[in-house]
Amino acid sequence: MSYKSDIEIAREAQKRPIQEIGEKLGIKSEHLLPYGHDKAKVSQEFINSVQSNTNGKLILVTAINPTPAGEGKTTTTVGLGDGLNRIGKKAAICIREASLGPCFGMKGGAAGGGYAQVVPMEDMNLHFTGDFHAITSAHNLLSAMIDNHIYWGNEFKIDERRVTWRRVLDMNDRVLRDVVTSLGGVANGFPRQTGFDITVASEVMAILCLATNLEDLQERLGNIIVAYRRDRTPVYCRDVKADGAMTVLLKDAMQPNLVQTLENNPAFVHGGPFANIAHGCNSVIATSTALKLADYVVTEAGFGADLGAEKFMNIKCRKAGISPDCVVLVATVRAMKMNGGVTKADLAAENVDAVKEGCANLGRHIGNLKSFDVPVVVAINHFVTDTSAEVQAVKDYVATQGSEAILCRHWELGSAGVEELARRVAEIADSDVSQFSPLYSDDLPLFEKIDAIAKRIYRADEVIADKKIRDQLHQWEEAGFGRLPICMAKTQYSFSTDPNLRGAPTGHSVPVREVRLSAGAGFIVVICGEIMTMPGLPRAPSAEAIMLNDMGNIEGLF
Ligand code: ADP
Ligand code: MG
Repeated sequence: MSYKSDIEIAREAQKRPIQEIGEKLGIKSEHLLPYGHDKAKVSQEFINSVQSNTNGKLILVTAINPTPAGEGKTTTTVGLGDGLNRIGKKAAICIREASLGPCFGMKGGAAGGGYAQVVPMEDMNLHFTGDFHAITSAHNLLSAMIDNHIYWGNEFKIDERRVTWRRVLDMNDRVLRDVVTSLGGVANGFPRQTGFDITVASEVMAILCLATNLEDLQERLGNIIVAYRRDRTPVYCRDVKADGAMTVLLKDAMQPNLVQTLENNPAFVHGGPFANIAHGCNSVIATSTALKLADYVVTEAGFGADLGAEKFMNIKCRKAGISPDCVVLVATVRAMKMNGGVTKADLAAENVDAVKEGCANLGRHIGNLKSFDVPVVVAINHFVTDTSAEVQAVKDYVATQGSEAILCRHWELGSAGVEELARRVAEIADSDVSQFSPLYSDDLPLFEKIDAIAKRIYRADEVIADKKIRDQLHQWEEAGFGRLPICMAKTQYSFSTDPNLRGAPTGHSVPVREVRLSAGAGFIVVICGEIMTMPGLPRAPSAEAIMLNDMGNIEGLF
């Protein structure tokens, strides 16, 4: 049997006008700012008007550590949203927007897959409503104003060697990682070394995703540290007076985007911070708004639960004052097999022993999530090659971990394939058993917060950090940043900092290479290992095969 590609399915979608989708959530058409017929922003005025509504239930979709086999978090988020609507619940989904960079690099979209997708998927993976362009512009306006400040006399005595604010571009372009600016003579300023990051790595992106309203946005933008003086004191964005104009550039981007699933259910697609140097979830404003409008909101956190769910809980939930009523942990038989030592080429053959062997990774994530006092259900995202013996092996294992696993076939069947999960999730969320508590309190010293994540989530024996790093953390505590949460940047492929260590490793240590203060976003980034903030394109980028056909349709995009 052959299966249609994601884009073929997406193109056959029977979309409804976006006003009809808004109607399902009680958003009148005057509060929808349409971008074409199938996308709209929700007005700030409307968002303000629903603040006294009671919140619906929040469902977090997360996963085991990613493997090249693919897990399908977004696909499951979309499928579960449709499944809840199918069983008569009023549900909305909240996911991230896509970056252009990876879109032209490796195949793979951000809109879900199979019969569990958000449409229009082509727009969503390309320019969408222009939010990322706005973020890029706001970021680079600040960059330009910093260099301009130096050019016109440098009143704030910025040390040109210590300008930490770089430039951004929404493209995978490795040649821009390290550049020298202001060459060509006196009129072009003072030459200095800097570089570009991809837009999703911008602190402006993280800020937009954590800000609760426009005032909060401007306040946070103003708090960005852009450079240091020779005496190491920080220079802020508000010192160079960029925060007002940046807020103006971001005014529309702050409003969440409403689109629809293949089954015409509402989906908010808004914001897209990196899941390593930032927190990796869609915007607080989209999630909080969805909670005011729907009875159930299904949302996704990036990477595996050790990074994505941990940050969702300790950063996003804490800042937004929300908490999950149920967590869905996505696993696939294929990923279990890879964790059990099977290579990608051999994934199609049945191998129950390898599935059993690989379940250790799943088990640890279940235990970790339970330590936040939230109920956990495992969703087995079914691939057509999975055998029933393999699926049963996962179910049996999960039962030994005090949880339950439900087989889901939304990729193949849409909402009809995910009813059982939808019913169970609704039941759990309605039972109010969740007693969510974050992993650490705000007033724990910064190093102890890192230690708590490393020992209780990664199950490492110790955190290794030299004196320079510990001193830096102390300095920030003295400067009043001690209450900030930690944003870990480590490999997504393993609980440890070694990407090749699959399963549930023990006896490892977590070496901290660098710490960075994101004073605007409001977290301390702790870097363990190599983190790439400007990716490159592969030898044969997918862009080579993307083109418009005679019908004017896009070819080659997934
Ligand atoms: P994640 O959000 O975890 O990165 P996605 O949901 O975006 O993963 O899925 C990644 C890719 O895997 C998509 O192209 C999707 O079509 C594919 N995929 C997901 N689930 C399945 C499945 N059950 N069978 C086949 N392909 C799937
Ligand atoms: Mg995803």
